Amino acid sequence: MLKNDMLEQWDRENFFHPSTHLAEFARGNAPQRVIQGGKDSHIETRDGQKLLDAFAGLYCVNVGYGRTEIAEAIAEQAHELAYYHAYVGHGTEASITLSKMILDRAPDHMSKVYFGMSGSDANETNIKLVWYYNNILGRPEKKKIISRWRGYHGSGLMTGSLTGLHLFHQKFDLPLNQVIHTEAPYYFRREDSSMTEEQFSQHCAAELEKLIEAEGPDTIAAFIGEPVLGTGGIVPPPAGYWEAIQAVLDKYDILLIADEVVTGFGRLGSMFGSDHYGIKPDLMTIAKGLTSAYAPLSGSIVSDKMWKVLEQGTDENGPIGHGWTYSAHPIGAAAGVANLKLIDTLDLVTNAGKTGAYFNKVMSEALADHPHVGEVRGEGMLCAVEFVKDRDSRTFFEASDKIGALLAGTMLEDGIITRAMPQGDILGFAPPFCLTEAEADEIAEKTAKAAKKLFDWT
Ligand code: PMP
Repeated sequence: MLKNDMLEQWDRENFFHPSTHLAEFARGNAPQRVIQGGKDSHIETRDGQKLLDAFAGLYCVNVGYGRTEIAEAIAEQAHELAYYHAYVGHGTEASITLSKMILDRAPDHMSKVYFGMSGSDANETNIKLVWYYNNILGRPEKKKIISRWRGYHGSGLMTGSLTGLHLFHQKFDLPLNQVIHTEAPYYFRREDSSMTEEQFSQHCAAELEKLIEAEGPDTIAAFIGEPVLGTGGIVPPPAGYWEAIQAVLDKYDILLIADEVVTGFGRLGSMFGSDHYGIKPDLMTIAKGLTSAYAPLSGSIVSDKMWKVLEQGTDENGPIGHGWTYSAHPIGAAAGVANLKLIDTLDLVTNAGKTGAYFNKVMSEALADHPHVGEVRGEGMLCAVEFVKDRDSRTFFEASDKIGALLAGTMLEDGIITRAMPQGDILGFAPPFCLTEAEADEIAEKTAKAAKKLFDWT
């Protein structure tokens, strides 16, 4: 591999990094790491440091690093045909095969898959399809989209608006006015601490209904949500949540978009979060786990109900005016086919459920009694530890306390990559599905050690 002594300097001078403190990075005061390689659950930096990646990149390298089966499929595709577009009925063996493999795994009522490159563009597609659908049905007023505070749906103009985190709105003139936010299903932070989970779910559904009534049901087109809130704090839904929400959406004829970018293809120990929680979506967003990030590829899975109307629209208007140059890119599609085959061969969805349960158990055992741990929560290969100032009074840290960043920094020194979630006091974990029990033990032990060090807990 090329060893260029100028690399760090070139990086600071030329590279505009996403989600990075621009000024601190340019000054040399922010972390800078050049990643060189990876195998299974570990990555290696350019200076030879081996790190256990307990966040699988950005919860996307689900099958783990260094899978030659996927690398070879990509190389073969690049040699045979690196690119051809998918417009006006074109396809490749890889893209057609992948569409069949996805639909074979998706809930029965889903009908077609539209391919994109990222979770953000797949959600942009979904919103356009919702609008197209309502226009064809002669309901031009039914256009607003409801999303949840703390939801994450991307960084585009529409998808950044759907994202319910202020950092993604401020100074960007977002959210756009077609987007409204409702309460997050965040049981741990409920205002009324006497509520049971079921009561809190009913409360969230009632809040949603109030919002729909206030805005006018005829103006609301769709609701979008992640089966488990991800970037907003890794928060599994309280008992009965999805059932209660779906009842409200059905009552007002509002479409449901399940954003499965994180949960799709096994992270919860089920193929999709929709299977896991009994969600019946009209559209599903997939990305990350579709290729385990070996190549960029995403998709919007469209239900039978919507497909029939979209077809009718093209009968009236001609071809659908929506396409990306790189839709169904053959190299991404080849990576997707190889990735889904590997998940089946190694039974990685089962492993995500089994080892994920073990991982959540050892994390709870190691941390739940810590005086500054408010909650250890998770599902499958997702886990979060939420730190609080005081457990009994549920007093929270300020974002400026940077508890998550301090802990993540300590753990990194100890060889473990975790993620301080944007709220600041939540440490997030989303390991690859090939995580071993010994690695799960190591993460739990080192998280407890970092907490002990920060809070001087004896
Ligand atoms: N939806 C969810 C649930 C996500 O977690 C993400 C990314 N973390 C996105 C959409 C956006 O995906 P991308 O970054 O590939 O645009």
